[in-house]
Amino acid sequence: MATHNLLLMPGDGIGPEVMAEVDRVIAFLGKKTAAEFRTETELCGGCSIDKHGTPLTDAALAKARAADAIIFGSVGGPKWDKVAYDIRPEAGLLRIRKELDLFANLRPAICYPALAEASSLKRELVEGLDILILRELTGGTYFGEPKEIVTLENGQKRAVDTTVYTTSEIERIARVAFDLARKRGKKVHSAEKRNVMRTGVLWNQVVTEVHKREYPDVELHHILADACAMQLVRNPKQFDVLVCDNLFGDMLSDEAAMLAGSLGMLPSASLGAPDPKTGIPKALYEPIHGSAPDIAGQGVANPIAEIASFGMALRYSCNMAKEADLIDKAIAGTLEQGYRTADIMQPNMRRVGTTEMGQAIVKEMERLIA
Ligand code: NAD
Repeated sequence: MATHNLLLMPGDGIGPEVMAEVDRVIAFLGKKTAAEFRTETELCGGCSIDKHGTPLTDAALAKARAADAIIFGSVGGPKWDKVAYDIRPEAGLLRIRKELDLFANLRPAICYPALAEASSLKRELVEGLDILILRELTGGTYFGEPKEIVTLENGQKRAVDTTVYTTSEIERIARVAFDLARKRGKKVHSAEKRNVMRTGVLWNQVVTEVHKREYPDVELHHILADACAMQLVRNPKQFDVLVCDNLFGDMLSDEAAMLAGSLGMLPSASLGAPDPKTGIPKALYEPIHGSAPDIAGQGVANPIAEIASFGMALRYSCNMAKEADLIDKAIAGTLEQGYRTADIMQPNMRRVGTTEMGQAIVKEMERLIA
């Protein structure tokens, strides 16, 4: 019987509320399948600042390193807006990504048929949408040095962020994109700004070389990141796998999220290099939404993105594709039955809170395997 060691990091705001519904799904699968889940819970983000004065303790990082997978909630909120930049809540999450070298961020943007009307785009543009956005996560503008604000002699301030990529950083993310495309529609779009950025020129060259050398069977298209933003709302179904750097990936994946109806619907996985012995990468799974301070504590948050993130953990870290499919089908089924949290509410549907949505999904899983 396979045992999976999961570290749960619910974080701040709605994080603990949506994580409670993942607990429910884990308990269900623990009872109904041969797999055993061992879970431990740790602090990260504002809650850790409150208790330990730091967004991530070394002990919590060590547990993250040892876990088969980290299931993450969300961090941050106005309460910690004034803490020093280096120890802000997000620094805890960034440290885990960096220390575990989680360089590949997978963000599926899927439009469930039952939610096609909830998208800001027309039904025919988004119905059946299934894009996988792959964002480079440990390099580029968010990590490049120098990164500073200095005061000049004339009293003005000068702020600098540096965008930097090396050949090997681009090669490894390109390979992940092509490998994923081989299991899907065999098409990759690579987005950059080669017309104005040197990193864009190198990105384009390296992706082209990896493609030519190792993946001639996959279709490759290059697209400027700004044109890509436009095409995502004009004709989103033309995309299969879309690979981009850290900064553009951050924006394009949030844009794609809205195609699917709500931030509350979308999961993500951040993967490192596969372990040479097991082939399984270090990994962190999290919804793409933040801590939603505006609705925290009200029991109304949509838990689907968090539950679907756990589904991705089953697929990529636990070798449990069948159970991952079960979760996806149960989410689709629950939506078909009319269950809606406030963020995806539509006329004549059944409005429910976080707990009822989690319960309905587990009930649908039970029905599907009966
Ligand atoms: P957000 O994603 O928290 O919220 C944006 C909007 O979407 C809000 O109106 C919110 O109520 C709604 N929303 C988000 N998730 C939802 C869900 N599951 N169900 C229903 N509605 C949902 O983004 P924000 O408001 O820009 O940021 C709030 C805090 O979260 C900030 O401190 C930010 O730094 C942090 N943040 C953290 C992460 C992370 O932990 N990875 C990501 C993004 C933002």
